[in-house]
Amino acid sequence: MNRCLLFVPINFLVAGILTFCVNSLTANPWRKAAAAHWTERARLLWPVRTSGAVNIWLIPRFTFGRWLRLVAMTWSIRAGSLGVLVLSALLMPDEFGLASVVVGGSVLAYLLALHFGLYLRFLRWWKVLVLPDRRLRSVVARTAQRMGLREPGTWLLDAPLAQAFALPATGELMFSSRLLDILTDDEISAVCAHEMGHLTESKSVLAGRIAGSMALYPLIFLRPAAKSGPLAICAIGVLVVLSAMLNRKLSRRMETRADKIATENQVEQGLFAGALEKLYCDNLIPAVSTGKRKAHPHLYDRMLAAGIQPDYPRPAKPQSMRWSVFLISIALGVLIGRELRGDQTLPLHAGRENCDYCPIVCAVVWLFEACISQLSPCFTK
Ligand SMILES: [Zn+2]
Repeated sequence: MNRCLLFVPINFLVAGILTFCVNSLTANPWRKAAAAHWTERARLLWPVRTSGAVNIWLIPRFTFGRWLRLVAMTWSIRAGSLGVLVLSALLMPDEFGLASVVVGGSVLAYLLALHFGLYLRFLRWWKVLVLPDRRLRSVVARTAQRMGLREPGTWLLDAPLAQAFALPATGELMFSSRLLDILTDDEISAVCAHEMGHLTESKSVLAGRIAGSMALYPLIFLRPAAKSGPLAICAIGVLVVLSAMLNRKLSRRMETRADKIATENQVEQGLFAGALEKLYCDNLIPAVSTGKRKAHPHLYDRMLAAGIQPDYPRPAKPQSMRWSVFLISIALGVLIGRELRGDQTLPLHAGRENCDYCPIVCAVVWLFEACISQLSPCFTK
């Protein structure tokens, strides 16, 4: 066997152990705060989650089997969207012409198909998406009746995070099993009203959402654009940044609207705010997050907007990162520097002349960490 191939498992193992140890260390302040209010624990955990992106290890109700399935599913979905973009960018010819139109058109059709049902098929294929039980079906039916809307198609997602999603393109809803475990029927109904609010968004908003989710799509034309000159590259850059910004603005506006609809359609005053608080508490999401650029407003503000004053003062913002990010960045910088100088003195690199695998493994480990925390990019939470 080629000696270089040995570096794949060795690097993966070393990177895995290192990541686990560093993340465990950075989580110490959170562990010490076990008796604190949930908002403080969520605040302390947040930078660990964003830094390590291995939050799944830190949530005790995950078993290894469930975690593994979740990772496999996330990877396959990521490969099915980001992977297709990377592949098509590599396949794109050097100049604009019929071939570039065929590649670009195929990718566009695929991305649209994801919105219009293919994504759900992926989840069904992984057996994490099943038909709803009688309880969920009747809560959704009651909520639709109360709001004077048609009963939407509903799915149950076998996931350990308490979440609900609307899929505006197909007019369907998705609730996680964990959400059903921790909320009462009336609270589920309040969350359902929020999600159904998304299903009543206009066609132009839906078009904006779909366009926004394709913010990275223009990047696949970088190769022919490079031939056309710097202006074409700048145009692609501007398009990517603009669509990402517009998407965020649109999402924020629609989340505020859906919250208002949920508040107006709850069975009893305070139900929606209480349900939201339970979800954030269970998932340990801070009540005030790091910035204003998130799709959802802060929980604290969402509760106030729903007419409920939380019985605790407004928590401070969490740190955005932990020291581990800087440590790993410096280590990575040193490694890249040595690599560029052709330095072969690092223990893992010794004797691996002409080995092309290490950068690939590093990229794989990085992707592994990055994607693990983002489970459903196409959906509206
Ligand atoms: Zn929403």
